[in-house]
Amino acid sequence: MVLPAYGAPLEPMELPDPAPSAEGVVVAVAAAGVCHSDLHLIDGVAPILPSFPWVLGHEIVGTVAAVGPQVQSVAVGDAVAVFGGWGCGACRLCRAGEEQLCGIERWAGIGAFGGYADYVSVPAERHLVPLGDLDPVAAVPLTDAGLTSYRAVRKSVDVLGPDSFLVSVGVGGLGQFGLTYARLLTAAATIAVDVSAAKRDTALALGAIAAVDPSQPDAVEEIRALTHGEGAAAVIDYVGSQDTLTLAGRVVGRGGHIVVVGIGGGVVPVSFGSPASEVSATSSHWGNRAELNEVVALARRENVSIATQPYDLADANRALSDLRDGRVAGRAVLLPAGAPS
Ligand code: NAD
Ligand code: ZN
Ligand code: ZN
Repeated sequence: MVLPAYGAPLEPMELPDPAPSAEGVVVAVAAAGVCHSDLHLIDGVAPILPSFPWVLGHEIVGTVAAVGPQVQSVAVGDAVAVFGGWGCGACRLCRAGEEQLCGIERWAGIGAFGGYADYVSVPAERHLVPLGDLDPVAAVPLTDAGLTSYRAVRKSVDVLGPDSFLVSVGVGGLGQFGLTYARLLTAAATIAVDVSAAKRDTALALGAIAAVDPSQPDAVEEIRALTHGEGAAAVIDYVGSQDTLTLAGRVVGRGGHIVVVGIGGGVVPVSFGSPASEVSATSSHWGNRAELNEVVALARRENVSIATQPYDLADANRALSDLRDGRVAGRAVLLPAGAPS
């Protein structure tokens, strides 16, 4: 399913099956997750913009279908999760294992054709993580929604002791994983924020101590009261709009962290002493390969998953409009016709 132009519906298109490069691997897609970033890409408001026709899809699991002659660690038939942050492999950041931060930005579905297809061409075997017996539909959101929120939570673990509060903004695909990782990796009490009543219920089911509607006029006071007036030790914003980042600035406490994950185009209000003393702010970008291994291990050991909503790949436009209209409870997942169901 290809994107023919900004804002246009995806269209079915026959492309030749990819052949692996000498060091590359072709993966038969078993499941492809639909991320809100795909809507930003379609709308032409993402930081990186595709050319057309474009194949979206950066959450991918599948089965190895072909390998290049230099590939050693995977074989045809292996079940794999695809790490999507493909970089050059050679620069300082890539060598440090932070390949998703590489300036090459050749990421699956964003800088190279992605997983809304029967096959995806992966440039190197190092981008594959063994999936084992994890169910492909349940596992596919781990590769971005899980991985990105895992990294974002880890960035604030040091300040999230048992007497602290985390404010977690947005309870969609990323935010739901984020609530689970907050429970598994930190001792903080988590206050969720979402405009949707259904998502606030989901947040409470995932362990949040409270769930606040930010469109209420007293939302900031309500959150600050929940933190006993101290403010949050960390705010992780999975929406990232100016509204939510302004809220983040008003609920963060002294020495607190603000982590921007959502691509909502907002700017964090931090200067000397304002909004509080020694507030730090960072963005958080996807996750690295080691973190994806950890996310997959946690999924296996702790059954970490969110609700998934499967669609045939041919119904990708319905999945995208359901996501846009708030009708996806967790993650929409596309299934190519050839994938085992
Ligand atoms: P989603 O559509 O599944 O979830 C978004 C959630 O935010 C929904 O529950 C919605 O009700 C809620 N929401 C919307 N506006 C809100 C507001 N003003 N206040 C509070 N809640 C609000 O989206 P997703 O797939 O989880 O993605 C979330 C964001 O993260 C998107 O902007 C996406 O592009 C971005 N993203 C960033 C990275 C990264 O590397 N930083 C990776 C993946 C996705
Ligand atoms: Zn994404
Ligand atoms: Zn690099």
